[in-house]
Amino acid sequence: MIFCVSAFDVAAAPGAYALWLRLEAPLDVRVGKISATLPAGNYLYCGSARGPGGLRARLSRHMRPQKRAHWHIDQLTAVASVLGAFVQEDGDECAFNAALGDLPIPVAGFGSSDCRRCAAHLRLWPKDATLPSRWENARKAAESRLP
Ligand SMILES: [Zn+2]
Repeated sequence: MIFCVSAFDVAAAPGAYALWLRLEAPLDVRVGKISATLPAGNYLYCGSARGPGGLRARLSRHMRPQKRAHWHIDQLTAVASVLGAFVQEDGDECAFNAALGDLPIPVAGFGSSDCRRCAAHLRLWPKDATLPSRWENARKAAESRLP
């Protein structure tokens, strides 16, 4: 697993990612017929990229605010800051999400319409919550690579 702040640091290969987003203000979102308000704060969204361009293409889409809304997560990336992503080539999005099982789910069903295993693929990341050690280590390794 690596942590990156730019899509250019990621291979154009298939795999899983967890996008780190920060909402500066509450945001109303829709999941099907359900409306909910996400509080301001940090979020992690687990997804996978299997199409052309793989992880690099998908992350670069997420990191670009202007686009035609297609997925639930597009409601967030349109306004939230994307602070980086945890990435694993050949990884599995549901395994990523399961590793974050201690973090609260803000809206049931968000990002997991196609998934039968997970209650949602979006997690709230409270300030005092630490991530699994593999994730924290990836973030520390990325920080140590900064000039
Ligand atoms: Zn899942």
